[in-house]
Amino acid sequence: MTTKCTACPRNCLCDRSTHRGFCGADNKIRIARVGLHEWEEPCISYGKGSGTVFFSGCSLKCVFCQNHEISSGLRGRDVTEDELCDIFLSVRDMGAANLNLVNPTHYSVSIANALGRVKDKLGIPVVYNTGGYDKVETLRSLEGLVDIYLPDIKYYSSEYSAKYSGASDYFDVAWKALEEMFRQVGYPEFDGEGHMIKGVLPRHLVLPKLYKDSMTILDRLSEKYDVSRLYISIMCQYFPTHRAKEFPELSRRVTTLEYSKVTDYAQRLGITHGYTQERSSAIEEYVPNFDF
Ligand code: SF4
Repeated sequence: MTTKCTACPRNCLCDRSTHRGFCGADNKIRIARVGLHEWEEPCISYGKGSGTVFFSGCSLKCVFCQNHEISSGLRGRDVTEDELCDIFLSVRDMGAANLNLVNPTHYSVSIANALGRVKDKLGIPVVYNTGGYDKVETLRSLEGLVDIYLPDIKYYSSEYSAKYSGASDYFDVAWKALEEMFRQVGYPEFDGEGHMIKGVLPRHLVLPKLYKDSMTILDRLSEKYDVSRLYISIMCQYFPTHRAKEFPELSRRVTTLEYSKVTDYAQRLGITHGYTQERSSAIEEYVPNFDF
């Protein structure tokens, strides 16, 4: 019997036992890096470092992807579900602050199976670090297994999401996914040392020329959620890479003025919790080595 994959909003119905789906994944789990990572938000990386597991392939096709070597290049090594369990436990043994699953969407079924087997032994929060393009039904299968959701919310405009990530329905999908994430784990909670232990922390990467789109996202978030409890990470680490050169408007970094327009606007909306970045973070050296 063939199984047609519907794990992500692409619903490409691929039989992953014989073919690779739109995301590039087949029925094996491909991993590009396992290791401690210090460049996530302070509440995720602070102190011990975040125990990242980077998955290869992706259901989005962002033309500026900083991890394109693994998202479209599929660099990495295939592992079984048993090995994935061992990898999760090895991250705990590294002394990581959390288990950080980076770009997990297209492996959500295997991840849910593996977490179901080892969650009790982990003793650290599980972070689901996603591009935000997630199906509500798939997220429901992770309820009780994930403690922290770290979703991107990349675009409001369907014109931009279609042009730069090949997903005209991005905002509608990501907005419903965000609602489901909040339903499961709520607003952020921290331990006495400032480590995030539970909750949703949306991330937004400001893109060149798109600060008005960023502001609309902030409008929508502030209308729906309690700004006194909401944390947002507003990032400026964009640099032109991968296919960005095909789009002249994406061929430069974000200016200080563009970035401050977005962060100032968040303040004006009453969003005072969260994280911003130094513009010096917009360099290629911050992309990890994919050496698994
Ligand atoms: S996870 Fe991959 S194979 Fe499954 S529906 Fe999405 S793109 Fe297709």
